[in-house]
Amino acid sequence: MSRPVQARRLEGIDKNIWVEFVKLAATYSKVNLGQGFPDFPPPDFLTEAFTRALGGQNHMLHQYTRAFGHPPLVTVLAQFFKKLLGRDLDPMTNVMVTVGAYQALFCCFQALVDEGDEVIIIEPFFDCYEPMVRMAGGTPVFVPLRPNPPKDGKLMSSADWQLDPAELASKFSERTKAIVLNSPNNPLGKVFSRGELGLIAELCVKHDVLCISDEVYEWLVYDGKQHIRIASLQGMWDRTVTVGSAGKTFSVTGWKVGWVVGPDRLLQHLRTVHQNSVYHCATIAQEAVAQGFQRELRLYGKPESYFVQLPKELQQKRDWLVQSLDGVGMKPIIPEGTYFLVADISQFKSDVPDVPNSDEPYDYRFAKWMIKSKGLAAIPLSAFYSEAHKNNYTNFIRFCFAKEEATLKAANEILQKWKQEKTSS
Ligand code: PMP
Repeated sequence: MSRPVQARRLEGIDKNIWVEFVKLAATYSKVNLGQGFPDFPPPDFLTEAFTRALGGQNHMLHQYTRAFGHPPLVTVLAQFFKKLLGRDLDPMTNVMVTVGAYQALFCCFQALVDEGDEVIIIEPFFDCYEPMVRMAGGTPVFVPLRPNPPKDGKLMSSADWQLDPAELASKFSERTKAIVLNSPNNPLGKVFSRGELGLIAELCVKHDVLCISDEVYEWLVYDGKQHIRIASLQGMWDRTVTVGSAGKTFSVTGWKVGWVVGPDRLLQHLRTVHQNSVYHCATIAQEAVAQGFQRELRLYGKPESYFVQLPKELQQKRDWLVQSLDGVGMKPIIPEGTYFLVADISQFKSDVPDVPNSDEPYDYRFAKWMIKSKGLAAIPLSAFYSEAHKNNYTNFIRFCFAKEEATLKAANEILQKWKQEKTSS
């Protein structure tokens, strides 16, 4: 029984932050601002569409649909993205439906990355990019967003975290196959500017590199900022796969409906992976999401549109959490997008008991201690960095603010009580 049972491709990727922190939050937390999902209900029009699909006359909605995407869903996605990208799209070849954005990403890496290929990942990053690149046989090459100190004692913004253009350029080589872009970015909430995207695009074109653009938070952008799609920039359509998620778009993360949009020359290979792994996604969920998009297409840009209302509501929630955290000295970095917020915990070192002989980073110790002793769950930021760089970013934790008013109030109460204890001790 000495032969290893696991495939070599799993070596070194078996540890996962979510397994540990989801369990800790479930066991100890009173208020869970850790994992990224809303605790408020999805819009009625979407759940009604699901119920109609489930109980309606068309019993074929209980069976397999087209493997690469239910026809009504790929059709409306093609119409919607035509508007957003300014180009005609063929629903059958330029769009594919996946089991959430997770599977979309998996298809991208499996289909496009070979043994020995390098894939550039911008730090901090949604943690699954690195193991997915490695499972495909590729080598991740990391480039960090570097924080610039804010001016005049103001709170930092996610826009203060920027790529160093020379450093970014230095990561592109003959071995570079792709770059992963995530805008708006989880965990920072950074919305990449046209200038930043232009720089990335220029390097992709110059070095003939593909772009895997994870845009699952495309509608969650605040303060009048605009989300720019890198596929719409010159020279980028043919080399970009854009990834989206109904989970984030319509606040239904449990439905696991995602998609990719891109040129057939790339998507044909993603279809091969999809065909030979998952094959198919739940028909009823696809039908309901299709109806959701049909509604949003009719209401595009109008005040009743969910894509207009949701960011408005979330901006208000963001501002509440910013205030609560700032009030206790946990300096928030104001996110321009997403439903995440990163806060600086460097002022709290004396609160957290030292663990002798532990090499666990401060943010991990802090987050675990906060869950257990304060009942408030958040995620350590260094989990979103590579092994080589994580020790440089251990003074931050990430909160999710896609929560009911009552949840955010309960978080505020915990923080206020904590502040009182600190001032009286
Ligand atoms: N990309 C990013 C940046 C995410 O934050 C998430 C979910 N947390 C996903 C992809 C996965 O999305 P889905 O739930 O649709 O699989």
